[in-house]
Amino acid sequence: MNEMFDVNANNIHPLSTQLDRLNVADIGYYREKIKILLQQNNAVMIAHYYTDPEIQALAEETGGCVADSLEMARFGSIHPASTLLVAGVRFMGETAKILCPEKKVLMSTLNAECSLDLGCPEEVFRAFCNSHPDRTVVVYANTSAGVKACADWVATSSIAVKLIEQLDSLGKKIIWAPDRHLGSYVQKQTGADILCWKSSCIVHDEFKTQALKNMKVLYPHAAILVHPESPHAVVELADFVGSTTQLIQAAKTLQHKQIIVATDRGIFYKMRQACPDKELFEAPTAGEGANCRSCAHCPWMAMNTLKSIADSLEYGGINHEIQIDPLIIKKALIPIHRMLDFSAKFYI
Ligand code: SF4
Repeated sequence: MNEMFDVNANNIHPLSTQLDRLNVADIGYYREKIKILLQQNNAVMIAHYYTDPEIQALAEETGGCVADSLEMARFGSIHPASTLLVAGVRFMGETAKILCPEKKVLMSTLNAECSLDLGCPEEVFRAFCNSHPDRTVVVYANTSAGVKACADWVATSSIAVKLIEQLDSLGKKIIWAPDRHLGSYVQKQTGADILCWKSSCIVHDEFKTQALKNMKVLYPHAAILVHPESPHAVVELADFVGSTTQLIQAAKTLQHKQIIVATDRGIFYKMRQACPDKELFEAPTAGEGANCRSCAHCPWMAMNTLKSIADSLEYGGINHEIQIDPLIIKKALIPIHRMLDFSAKFYI
């Protein structure tokens, strides 16, 4: 990596969100209400692995999907429902809307952000790209529709290494944005000439190297699985590095009976389904330098609740429905389609 661009020296953290916990009766009430509202709205639920277990379970139960951002985009684009209820963060809803502008895309709240997205403002990024016209612009899926509209390619963590390898083999010099840890990981794997934006995920940034080493002493036979949005020193300790879907697959196929996982704890819902016979542990976020937001759970993903999903289906409107300028949709569609075509080619 030959240069880093720090758009925002201050870390971006949301205000802590005090979420109302539902009692058992309320959970049952909202589950049934959502099922009826999904039918009435000709809607399908598309949930990310990092949402809470009751949301993932309901998406599965109602014929929706639980997936990573790449598969969420694919699923939404081919499903016949006229309304997509995206349980995740805003860039996921935006990607669904870009791929299916004729569909209504609803979310629990449009305030469900992502620190990577927030760390890469459209106007600053556009000026940055314009000052490097010789570079191919690759942006991570965790970006706004406007940033995607500036890009040549969109990538997810599942295809990032393969895509950059291919671009590098064609002699392309690259701008990578916005995740500096994933950019650094991809650069190390490929040796490509990458100019990297400097944003990060507030969840993965919190995994602690020394605490993870200490944990490995306690569980010497455990495999360590790490998402590449994590800091380099944590990635170095991994037995396997990959996207959320790849981590679930690895948990299943690795011989280890104990698995330590460095990504959002929401992933344990699907990971337990994939390998019910194994012991799964969260990688430590507490340790030297930890603070009150160290909980391995994305605060914006946590804004998705059964109640807020029911509200979005019942009321829709400006608080819940994704709207994007048609011109931005037209531009952003090009790099997103390239991503989908590329991933289909490599069967990832
Ligand atoms: S876990 Fe990190 S990358 Fe994922 S939505 Fe939250 S802040 Fe963004």
